[in-house]
Amino acid sequence: MSIKFSQLSNISTSATVAINTLANKKRQAGKRVYNLSAGEPMIVTPEVIIEAGEKAMRDGQTKYPPSTGIAPLRLAASEWMNKNYYTHYDIDHTLVTCGGKFGLYLLLQALVESDTEVLIPAPYWVSYPSMVQLFGGTPITVNTSESDGWKIEVADLEKLFTPKTKILIFNNGSNPTGVLYSREELEKILTWCSKKNIIAISDEVYSGLVYDGGKYISCASFGNLSNNVIVVHSCSKNFAMTGWRVGFVFAPAEIIRVLATLQSQSITNTSSISQWAALSALQNAETIIPQIRTEMQKRRDTLVEVRQKLFGGNLPSPASALYAFWPINSFGVNDTDSVRFCEKVLKEGNVAMVPGAPFGKEGYVRISFGETKKELTEAMEALRRYL
Ligand code: GLU
Repeated sequence: MSIKFSQLSNISTSATVAINTLANKKRQAGKRVYNLSAGEPMIVTPEVIIEAGEKAMRDGQTKYPPSTGIAPLRLAASEWMNKNYYTHYDIDHTLVTCGGKFGLYLLLQALVESDTEVLIPAPYWVSYPSMVQLFGGTPITVNTSESDGWKIEVADLEKLFTPKTKILIFNNGSNPTGVLYSREELEKILTWCSKKNIIAISDEVYSGLVYDGGKYISCASFGNLSNNVIVVHSCSKNFAMTGWRVGFVFAPAEIIRVLATLQSQSITNTSSISQWAALSALQNAETIIPQIRTEMQKRRDTLVEVRQKLFGGNLPSPASALYAFWPINSFGVNDTDSVRFCEKVLKEGNVAMVPGAPFGKEGYVRISFGETKKELTEAMEALRRYL
């Protein structure tokens, strides 16, 4: 086999996808499984979106759309960003992709060279380092800790900077920690990136899922400091559309042109039906997002309360996204690592959670609160019984 093949075989499978698949397999085999692994709002996609998808099919929108995405959706997405997050995008800055994940993949394919070092704050979403490696780059972990609120500071970035550092993958509204940065904090980080000429790829897919009245600030809303910012976005979480696979990249027009070429030579386009459905999602965003946010906040509160009642101790509620990232010892377990803990709990206790290790933080576990309050409660009770 070629060197490239053996390098690729060393890249790990996505842990989130793997555990979700395992949990669903157990379910299909007839087991009662509590699946808190998948990062998705377990809510039926809103009716108005489904209707738009249905209508698109009946209207004959079933042929190849442009590789860049359908024009009305690109326009609506750029206007939605500008209106809600004070950015300055137009249609030429906007690409429709097959989920935010593929947008990030295309970006790294286009930007990472064999000697590129990419800064990635940890805990990180499992796919960031693997994608950097897929394209021959080197992921450089920027460690954070729970006691620092899981936040990076400029001094941390400065310590790891080398002439090969070209990109920072930044995830405000973080998967897995739920950490949310303030405008002042973001400004410091972006000022540093701008000084060092580093591209900040800003994964903003949880922008709508910010709780307790918190405000989401886009990294693309800082005037000149945003010149080196590229935003990855998605309909998955904000609109309960994970399976529809619609995401966006917002970037300078020359980058969008290259990504569109890569898209035309790979997947051709995102599903035309999903794109028309996504257009309806954006047109109804002002109603849909608050509804999903309110429901997710209730689910988060249930998870936090039930854990506290069953296991004791007081853990902070995540400020955004869909996850609690908690230490294993908060469940009274001290003698194992996160992978073994999650494997055993899924195998023997039928509760699926994702270990902290693939997120770059041992000793922790990620619990998604996308499920219903009843399911979350029963899952925590099942975990308690098992342990
Ligand atoms: N972002 C979600 C998660 O972390 C979706 C799964 C994935 O593609 O990793 O669970």
